[in-house]
Amino acid sequence: MEQIQTFFGYHKALTQLLYGRDFIGQDKHKKLEALSALCGELLEVDNVSIWTLSLCGNHLDRALRYPRATDNRDPGFSLSRDQHGIYFSALDAAEIICTDDVRADPRTRSFHPYYVNEKESVASMLDAPVFDGNRLCGVICLESRQQRQWSLADIACVTAVADTISLINTHEAWLKSRKELDYITHHDDFTGLLNLRSLRNHIQQLTEQQAQESFALLWFDIDRLNAINNGMGQQVGDAVVSEVAARLRGMLLPGKEMVARVGGDEFAMIYRFPPGSGTMDEAVDAILETVNYPIRIGEQKVQVSASIGISFFPNDGGDVSTLLRHSESAMYHAKACGRRQAQYYNQDISTTAKARFLLENQLTDAIANDGLSVFYQPIMSADGRSVVSAEALVRWQHETQGFMSPAEFLPLAYEAGLVASLDLWVLERVCRDIQAAREQDLPMPPVAVNLSADSIMDPLLADKVWERLQRYQVLGAQLELEVIEDAIKGDSKVLRRTLEELVRMGIKLSIDDFGTGYSSLLRLKSLPFTKLKIDRSFIQDLPQDPDDCAITLSILGMARGLGLNVVAEGVENSEQEAWLQHQGCNYLQGFKYHKPMPIHAFLELLVTA
Ligand code: C2E
Ligand code: CA
Ligand code: CA
Repeated sequence: MEQIQTFFGYHKALTQLLYGRDFIGQDKHKKLEALSALCGELLEVDNVSIWTLSLCGNHLDRALRYPRATDNRDPGFSLSRDQHGIYFSALDAAEIICTDDVRADPRTRSFHPYYVNEKESVASMLDAPVFDGNRLCGVICLESRQQRQWSLADIACVTAVADTISLINTHEAWLKSRKELDYITHHDDFTGLLNLRSLRNHIQQLTEQQAQESFALLWFDIDRLNAINNGMGQQVGDAVVSEVAARLRGMLLPGKEMVARVGGDEFAMIYRFPPGSGTMDEAVDAILETVNYPIRIGEQKVQVSASIGISFFPNDGGDVSTLLRHSESAMYHAKACGRRQAQYYNQDISTTAKARFLLENQLTDAIANDGLSVFYQPIMSADGRSVVSAEALVRWQHETQGFMSPAEFLPLAYEAGLVASLDLWVLERVCRDIQAAREQDLPMPPVAVNLSADSIMDPLLADKVWERLQRYQVLGAQLELEVIEDAIKGDSKVLRRTLEELVRMGIKLSIDDFGTGYSSLLRLKSLPFTKLKIDRSFIQDLPQDPDDCAITLSILGMARGLGLNVVAEGVENSEQEAWLQHQGCNYLQGFKYHKPMPIHAFLELLVTA
């Protein structure tokens, strides 16, 4: 009877502790301390300790110690399975080790003399294993210096405490994994920044505030990351992304409220106007300065820059989605305006900026991955009967827009700085086609490739061309290069040297679209061109339009004087042909003879001609 009452007493005290407000809010260690103290006081033992089993299962480490008589709470002590095998096995088997004589009990005998002799000798022990599921994970240990007969109530109490410890452990593990999960759902694991979900939540909160306080949402996109990835490797691209993340995170800017990574190379920032500290423009300048400077990656120096779009709450949008959309389209606008800059949203920035940007990316991909093709348009002898050469004209088979003509995408390529790599792609494809024709013993006349101003101004152009000729075993004489008149209007040593080197390789040079620009005769004379191509616009209305007749005649006369051959472009009918033949034009090109065609059709034409 008395035992039962004692047990109820223990139980009540334990329950009071566990359900007390103070206890629930404590961390794990504090909870374990409170439990051991309670045990010590209730059962009036000399020492209570809690041990945890090491992950390998070979050691019990004392995590906590509550000696009733002294203040020495230093837990540091460890027991090994090797030395106390029987004790460990008993715990593994979920035994309560309840002994009134430590030295006599086979399970605890090994503690003598090492442990039991530790200043205060221990005579009796009551140990209950703590489990995590069915794995032993520790033990709670009650010690008495006097010999003591443990009661059933004592045993029930210590097992209840062991179970409680097990629950506390489980709860702790759950909290930890919930924290991890929480971290994963709100952060980007590559940069450690918050993610789009967190950004959305935060904007949501700001827009729901009573005060409707204005803030700015900045949307960043790293410039040309695609090109960096393709040209320098994914690792360099990754390094650029984490560097931008670090710069934005580390930046000291009053008003910066949150930085998130919202896509592969996209970041966002919430900026709230701090009272009395500068304008938005100043903040933007500071941000651009922080982001736009090169980084060093090993031996390489990589230019980093970002384009930024900015929208304001509530003026540009009252809800999360609108604000995000508007910042993003302002960012595309910044890209279209030449990158490396910030643009504020306004209603005129429609979806075109985004569409252009996408097209530009697709074109970059097409150049990198052979997504373009080359058509050949024959250039005919003066009598219009035989093919003497051909002009290579680029085509783009676009996924959704079908075959796109250069007129549609070249302006874009120019603005995006892609045109030089496009020219080189065409040159390479032409060399490959020439090589393939030779290998099949098929005839192939010289092919003219168009060069943009960007290409012709590239000081390394001659090297690049030479490299292609070598690689595909193509003779310089099999190649011609066309340069539009305006591309050579600036006089420069580099240009002159490039042209001379090309000529030295045996390549013939033509001036394209002649008549549309401002070349002076004198200059033309001093540059190593051998052909002039009269622009289609002058040929179109021949022979009816007297002005066009006069211009064409003067071009022909001038060319003769300079010893240049003339090609008339865009010949579509017999009247034009007859007039041009009569005036002594050397070559004819136009739909009257052939439209541009794929290589196989061109080769077939040559064979049957
Ligand atoms: P272009 O160099 O003046 O090339 C001749 C253009 O006139 C070609 O248009 C050709 O298809 C077209 N054409 C030829 N004969 C006739 C005709 O009788 N009637 C009419 N209406 N048109 C005719 P395409 O292929 O659309 O090329 C347009 C321009 O794009 C080219 O003008 C050239 O400036 C540029 N381009 C083409 N390929 C390349 C390239 O690989 N690199 C560079 N930089 N520019 C290129
Ligand atoms: Ca041309
Ligand atoms: Ca032309």
